[in-house]
Amino acid sequence: MPIVSGSQGVVPASSGIHDNDWQGSLRRAIRDPAELCARLELPESYVAAARRAAAAFPLLVPEEFLNRMRRRDPHDPLLRQVLPLELENDEVPGYGQDPLEERHTQDVSGMLTKYPGRSLLITTGACAVHCRYCFRRHFPYSASPKSTTQWEPVLRQLRSDRSLEEVILSGGDPLTLPDERLAWLLQQLSQIEHVRRIRVHTRLPIMIPSRVNGPLLEMLSQPGQVRIVVVHVNHAAELDASVSQSLAALQMAGILLLNQAVLLRGVNDQVEDQVNLSLRLIECGVLPYYLHQLDAVAGAHHFLVPEAEGRLLLQTMQDRLPGYAVPRYVREVPGEPSKRPILP
Ligand SMILES: *Cc1c(COP(=O)(O)O)cnc(C)c1O
Ligand code: SF4
Repeated sequence: MPIVSGSQGVVPASSGIHDNDWQGSLRRAIRDPAELCARLELPESYVAAARRAAAAFPLLVPEEFLNRMRRRDPHDPLLRQVLPLELENDEVPGYGQDPLEERHTQDVSGMLTKYPGRSLLITTGACAVHCRYCFRRHFPYSASPKSTTQWEPVLRQLRSDRSLEEVILSGGDPLTLPDERLAWLLQQLSQIEHVRRIRVHTRLPIMIPSRVNGPLLEMLSQPGQVRIVVVHVNHAAELDASVSQSLAALQMAGILLLNQAVLLRGVNDQVEDQVNLSLRLIECGVLPYYLHQLDAVAGAHHFLVPEAEGRLLLQTMQDRLPGYAVPRYVREVPGEPSKRPILP
């Protein structure tokens, strides 16, 4: 028997925990800088600046996330992650369009094989939020598969390469896909015997907690393969009660929960921010996995925290926290088969 079923599971569709109209939430997400600034009672000057910066990478922030931000505070750590600033248009040497040189690692369209034994599928270009520091903000998503037929070359490649024991669903955000599309893909993957682990990289349980609905829990809790969900939380204030309920439901469905964060100036660059984030994650049943050094993507230079400062931060965390609550501080090096640890 599955641990969770749609009708009697941990979060039944009609539980009332969430409104369960996650697709409506996605559609209604805020895209207009004027609306964002009005809702948060920010000065008018932010609107024009956000308009200029959002031309290159549009503003996108769901209501549920906005509700966790403080009013009248342009420095709110959640707002900083999504608010387009004029600084994004600066040209800064060393910051480029494809900092990880990923475009060359796409041998079959929609599939990146930059990590040995693991295959990363670009399932969609869509996200529930646009993070201003995103290293894939300039990625050419139009090439990723859209239909079941277009997925066939990827699936053929996965079936034929027995070394691929893990499939990472990435994007964009794979949980923006409708349940039927996702269920189909997971079903295809579950039929490949040598695929032992399926990992989903997503910000949806944080941005729109009602995305963790009965059908999703059911398709993720099928036995046979290890299922891992890697969420992306940068600040403890993102983890309110509705998010922690969704994370608890995933955990009860037998899914291993990990977090990756990015070290960001003005968001989580203080020791207290990082300590609180780790402790809150543990409370929510999520292990802090990675703390990423910022990738040098054009438009994100103002988020940089120098590595030397990051190392000191990690040293202090190590002194104050149990070992399992200290994430690995890493940087991505183009062409390397794994992330490079940055040691204190
Ligand atoms: C690092 C990384 C991976 C591979 O992850 P490991 O946990 O190191 O195996 C996959 N996808 C993204 C986006 C990554 O940054
Ligand atoms: S959710 Fe992930 S892929 Fe989407 S914009 Fe944010 S960091 Fe980038």
